[in-house]
Amino acid sequence: MAGLKFDIVIAGKGLTGRIAAIAMAKLGFTVALIEKTCRKDNTPRLYAISPPNWLWLGTLGLIDETALATPAKTMIITSISGRQLRLSSDMARRPALAYFIDESVLIQKARHLLGESAITLFDDAAIIKVETEEVAIFLEDKHIHGKLILIADGAFSKLRALAGIEADIHDYGEDAIVAEFVPEKSHQNEAWQWFGNQEILACLPKEDGKISIVWSLKRNLALQYANPNALTRRLESKVSHRFGKLALTSPIAQYPLYKVNVPNLALGRFFLLGDAAHAIHPLAGYGLNLALDDLRALAAILSNQTDPGAASLLLAMAKKRQLFDQTVSALIDNMHRYFTQQSFLGDCLFAVAKQVPAMQRALVTLALEDHAP
Ligand SMILES: Cc1cc2nc3c(=O)[nH]c(=O)nc-3n(C[C@H](O)[C@H](O)[C@H](O)COP(=O)(O)OP(=O)(O)OC[C@H]3O[C@@H](n4cnc5c(N)ncnc54)[C@H](O)[C@@H]3O)c2cc1C
Repeated sequence: MAGLKFDIVIAGKGLTGRIAAIAMAKLGFTVALIEKTCRKDNTPRLYAISPPNWLWLGTLGLIDETALATPAKTMIITSISGRQLRLSSDMARRPALAYFIDESVLIQKARHLLGESAITLFDDAAIIKVETEEVAIFLEDKHIHGKLILIADGAFSKLRALAGIEADIHDYGEDAIVAEFVPEKSHQNEAWQWFGNQEILACLPKEDGKISIVWSLKRNLALQYANPNALTRRLESKVSHRFGKLALTSPIAQYPLYKVNVPNLALGRFFLLGDAAHAIHPLAGYGLNLALDDLRALAAILSNQTDPGAASLLLAMAKKRQLFDQTVSALIDNMHRYFTQQSFLGDCLFAVAKQVPAMQRALVTLALEDHAP
């Protein structure tokens, strides 16, 4: 069986794996990227990318001036009891709260960069076993050695299990419905979010005038909205006809929602990234951003290193990121718990934030801080 050697081997060609490969190759490492399937998911997905991550993606060549993206300056959040909070990037004197970009744009750019670089791709490759002592990954017909193995094969990571890394997986019992609509009335580049009884709806503005929705609901209810007519009518009424009539222009996709917590991000020469390390509820649009925060920190730590899998580096990296990642995960979990049911605490927080402009400014400033210093 042939053996191949790389500085860094990455499992999983989702956005985390692709961007990790591009970032690591840019540091001068030899990189292999392994994917078990050739995904053909043509559901339109929109990502909110934080301003620091947006800038970083630009330095990697993943975003340029031709990328169709919407800078969101304003976000209007409505609580379960109907209190409305309007947050604006002007409160922190910044150009945008986040940038909304189609997944297809990011994937297309990443494909181009992967093709141009010396990254070795193994598509349709099944990982059969790993050897933690020699740090090798076995595919059907070859084994691949890496000084560092980045595990980015998603929430139900097979490689994480093969490497013997513990993970706690929690099922929210919810699905997120994702779809796109042409609204009769302009979205005015504003992002909207409604918290309801065991549901959260986000309506996000797109450059082409459409809105993209992410609507998380209890799984049995989400099933009823697989019907285009039922979804459209229910949505129009849910948003109080704010956008006028809505015309569905995409397939309706449903994503089951899970939380993944991993007590240790590093084990030997393995390091976890993306949903394999920390899947979170999409209510804050931060799952990919968390992966990008981690990746920026990893790129900073590995710059100018000859052995990217050295224990001292990976442990320093894990120490640096673990607390932050777990804090974000816990914060989002608590927002989910207190804002999707009538709760004194949740209502108080909204009431105070609505009345106190300094708190609104503090919230926006905190959200826009760079989380990978
Ligand atoms: C509805 C919804 C909306 C969201 N919106 C946002 C947002 O606006 N902003 C944001 O930051 N985040 C958002 N997120 C979170 C974001 O989508 C995820 O955090 C991100 O996509 C995770 O990417 P990943 O590459 O880590 O995992 P995945 O996308 O799951 O990719 C894992 C890859 O590994 C491959 N794989 C699996 N098993 C193996 C194996 N054995 N060997 C090799 N490869 C394997 C899979 O085929 C896949 O290609 C959202 C999530 C949802 C559900």
